[in-house]
Amino acid sequence: MRYGFVIDNRKCIGCHACTTACKSENEVPLGVFRTWVKYTEKGTFPNTRRYFNVTRCNHCDNAPCITVCPTKALYRRPDGIVDFDSSRCIGCKSCMQACPYDALYIDPFEHTAAKCNYCAHRVDVGLLPACVIVCPEKAIIAGDLDDPTSEIAHLVATQPVAVRKPEQGTQPKLFYIDADAAALTPEAQTRQDGYLWGEVRPDDRPKLAVTADGAADPAGEARIAYDVHHPKPWGGKVATYLWTKSIGSGAALIAAVLFLAGAVDNRATFQIAAPLIAVLFILATSVLLVADLKRPERFWYLLLKPNPRSWLVWGGYILGVFGAVAFLWLVAAAAGLDTAMKVLMALAIPLALASAGYTALLFGQAEGRDFWQSHLLLPQLIAQAIVAGSAALLLFGVALGASDHELRVVAVALAVGVVLFAVLLLAELRGAHGNAHVARTVKLLTAGPYRPVLLFGVWLLGVVAPLILVAATVLMGPVIVTAAFAASAALAGLWFYERIWVSAGQDVPLS
Ligand code: SF4
Repeated sequence: MRYGFVIDNRKCIGCHACTTACKSENEVPLGVFRTWVKYTEKGTFPNTRRYFNVTRCNHCDNAPCITVCPTKALYRRPDGIVDFDSSRCIGCKSCMQACPYDALYIDPFEHTAAKCNYCAHRVDVGLLPACVIVCPEKAIIAGDLDDPTSEIAHLVATQPVAVRKPEQGTQPKLFYIDADAAALTPEAQTRQDGYLWGEVRPDDRPKLAVTADGAADPAGEARIAYDVHHPKPWGGKVATYLWTKSIGSGAALIAAVLFLAGAVDNRATFQIAAPLIAVLFILATSVLLVADLKRPERFWYLLLKPNPRSWLVWGGYILGVFGAVAFLWLVAAAAGLDTAMKVLMALAIPLALASAGYTALLFGQAEGRDFWQSHLLLPQLIAQAIVAGSAALLLFGVALGASDHELRVVAVALAVGVVLFAVLLLAELRGAHGNAHVARTVKLLTAGPYRPVLLFGVWLLGVVAPLILVAATVLMGPVIVTAAFAASAALAGLWFYERIWVSAGQDVPLS
C-alpha cells in the first residue's frame, strides 16, 4: 500500500480552501503551513496566464528527511505516509535542509518539526485528508497508488503527470496533472518586490532566474505572484560550529603530525596546548550544536534514540571519541608519559580528520541544498582544519615561547592550508555548476549581497593577508609579530567564509 496525492491543475481554482482546511484540521499556527497554493504568472498583458501550484510534503518513497533525522522522529508508515513523532524531535532542523520541497517547518509553540502527514489520524479511521474533502473542484485526489482499481492509480497510469525535482531521486508520491514546468521549478522563477496582496519582506533570496551556467534563463518569465516560505533553518551558530570544529580538529592534527615527524618540539605548545585547544574547541562545538536545537533539553535523544543512518548521530560520536582521545593526550603529556602521549597523538590524527570531514557527509544528506552537495566539500573541510589549526597553534606558540624555527614551520603549514583552501574555493566558484540551484547560489556569493564579504572578508583577510604575513614570517622578523597577525587574519577570514557559505547555501528557494 502506498498512499499518494494527485493535484489536477486542470481543475484547481487557487481558492486556498485546502490551506485553510489543513490549518483548521491540524491546528497549524499562524505563519507556518503544511500546504499552500503558490501562484506564478507568465506572459505579457493581455496575453497572460496564472498558474496554481498546490505545495506540500510529497510523502517520498525515498525520503531524505527520514534518513537525516537523528532521532527517527520522521518515519515512513507501512501505508507509505511519511509521518512524524514530535515527542522524539530535538529541533535540529536537518530535515528542513534535507527536504528538497520546503515541506517542513518548526512549530512555533512545540519547537519541533512538523509537516503534512496526510491527515494520518483521519486515514486511520477511514476518512480522507481534510484538503481532499474541502476542495470544491475535486482537484486533490488521494488514495492508494498500489491499488490498480483506485482513482489515483488510474489517473497516474492514464494522464501525463509530473513530479517536482525528479532528479533528486526522492521518488515523490505527489503527482501534478497539467503542471507548467516553470511553475514547478523555483530556480526558473523571477521574484518581485511584492506579491498579489502585499509586500515581500526584503531578504537575500535571489530575484532573477538563471540557468546552470549562471546566465539569465529564458524560462524565467514565470513571475511569482503569491508564495510562502519558511525561514532559513541554520544561522550563525552552525557557521560558528564549523569554525570551532576546524580549530579543535586542526590544532590536534597539525601538532600531532609535526611533533611525530620531529619538526617541532616545544612542550607547552605542541604537547599541552594543542590537546587543550582540541578539548576546549570540540566542547564549544558541542555546546553550539546543542544551543542550535529548538529543543536543547532533548539533546541526549541523540544517544538514546539514534538513527544510525544520520550523519548527525555519527558526527556526535566522532566528536565525543576525538574529544576523549585529546583529553587523554593532555593527561599523558601533563604526567610526562611520553610513549602513551605519542600513541594518543597518532590516534588523534585520523580522529581529527574524521571530526573535520564528517560534516561533508552530514551536509551531503541535506539533499535540498544542492550547493552543499559539492564533491569538493570534504577536501575543503580538511583545508579549513589545516588553516584553523595552524593559526591557533601559531597564536599559542607565540604566547608560549615556541622557537622562531617552530613558528616558521607552523606558518608554512598555515600557508599550505590557505593555498589549498583558496584553490578549492576558486574551483567551487569558477568550476562548472551542477544545476541552476548551484549557479544561483554562486551568483549570490560572487555578484550578489555576499560579494563584499567574499572579497574583503574571505579573499583579502583570509587568503591574501595571511600569505603575505607568512612570507614575512619565513623571510624576515620579528617572527612573533607577523606570525600572530597571519594567524589572526586567517582565523577571521575563515569565520567570514563559514558565515556566508552557510547562509548563501540556504538562499535559493526550495519551493
Ligand atoms: Fe515530505 Fe520532504 Fe520528507 Fe519528501 S523529503 S517525505 S517531501 S518532508
